[in-house]
Order: sequence, then structure tokens, then C-alpha cells
Amino acid sequence: MTTTTATEPIIGRVHSLESFGSVDGPGIRFVSFLQGCRMRCEFCHNPDTWKINSGTPYTPQQLFNEAVKYRPYWGKKGGVTCSGGEPLLQKEFILEYFKICKANGVTTTIDTCGGVFSRDPEYLEVMDELLEYTDLILLDLKQINPERHKSLTMMPNDHIIDFANYLKEKNQPIWVRHVLVPSRTDFDEDLEKLGLFIESLGDIVKKVEILPYHTMGVYKYKELGIKYPLEGVPSPTADRVKNAERLLKVDQYQGYRDM
Ligand code: SF4
Repeated sequence: MTTTTATEPIIGRVHSLESFGSVDGPGIRFVSFLQGCRMRCEFCHNPDTWKINSGTPYTPQQLFNEAVKYRPYWGKKGGVTCSGGEPLLQKEFILEYFKICKANGVTTTIDTCGGVFSRDPEYLEVMDELLEYTDLILLDLKQINPERHKSLTMMPNDHIIDFANYLKEKNQPIWVRHVLVPSRTDFDEDLEKLGLFIESLGDIVKKVEILPYHTMGVYKYKELGIKYPLEGVPSPTADRVKNAERLLKVDQYQGYRDM
């Protein structure tokens, strides 16, 4: 005799929630910072999101119920964003959450660096389905230079470049973001190569943003008892930010700003 049991809802681990996010996709957004990240970017201002299997548990429906309270503020452009940490560590949870969002007409965005991407068929099966429910990916490309990427993040970048190519294959709209850090990512030769790579992604790229490095998360390192790796590194000057915008041809994508 076979017995059927009700399927347990998948549980997501959430670090924190932001009700009125204005920098994580179009319009005003309800941002879920999901817990867990395997990268160790030297400039990370959220080291408290690194620990895996920590955070507050939510079912997809519970998270949606929280998000939808803010719907009156979203207008036509706003909606929900999953950020982190690295949100795609919990892609199965996001998939179920976004299914509920789309069934309710809510726009969906993921802010990721693609650091967990793989062409493994099981991985792709979930990822392919997730993209069907995802309006926009904010893709953080941290360093095009493989050696500098590794010393900056403790991870190679070949699978991240492949993730961007996969998004092109899937015709997935993206915004590319690049954190500009003096002595780490602010080299003309790397910026030029990154600009060419972004161009090669074609018209899936709707916007390119330079995010100037800042030190606002330094206090978290002190709280966690971790040595801050960029001690003494300043924010980039306005001129270097302009230079990076020129080399990444940011203006070329401005026409798509308000997708
Ligand atoms: S990928 Fe994001 S959360 Fe992870 S270490 Fe880098 S900046 Fe921090």
C-alpha cells in the first residue's frame, strides 16, 4: 500500500529584509537578503551574510505575504528583489517564491554575482525554470582578469563569465554592475576588457552601473572579529569613476535605463 504525504514547503534562509529598496532594480522594491555566500570579496560590506544555513527561516508564501504588504509603493516599475549573500545558493526557494510573485503579477529581480553557476544538468534544470519567472538579473561582474578576480574574491571567474554567456543564450535581460575599487578593480586594461565583454553580451544588457567602493560595512568586520582586507584603500575619485564609466561605455546603455 502506498501512502501520500503532503509536500513540505521549501524553507529559505533570510538574513534581512528591506521594505523600500531603491538601488536593487527598477523602482521601489522589497529586497530579501538571503543568507549564505561562498565568495570572500575583499570589499564585501555584508560579511554577516556569509554563513550558510543560518538566518531566519521563511516559506515562500510567508516571504510573499511580508513583501506584498508594500505593494502600494511599487507602482508600475517596482516589485521584489532577492539579493544576498549569494541568493542563487537558494535557487529552489527563489523559484517557489517567484512563482507566487508572478501568479500575483509582481515583477521579480535577482541580484547575483553568478558565483555558484554550473552547467551541471540538475543545476540547469532549476535555473532554466527560475529564469521563466525572473524579469531581471542584476549581475555583479567583479573582475574580468582571472588572477585579480581570484585574489579579490578567493574564487576563479571562468564560471561567472560562463553564467553571463548562459544568460545571453537564454535572452535574459540583465543590468551589469561593477564595484570600482582602487588597486583592485580600477585598472584601465581590465576595464577595457570588461567593456568589450559586456558589449559581447548584446542587447540582453539593459544598463551598466559603476558602484564606487565605500567603507560603510567596515564596522561589521570589527563586530565579527574579522580583519578588514582593504584597510587604508580609499574610495575612487570622481575622475576615476568617470573614466570607468567611459571604458565600460555606460552611456551606451542609458537609453534602456527605465525598463
Ligand atoms: S559575492 Fe557579495 S555577499 Fe558574497 S562576498 Fe562578494 S560582495 Fe559579499
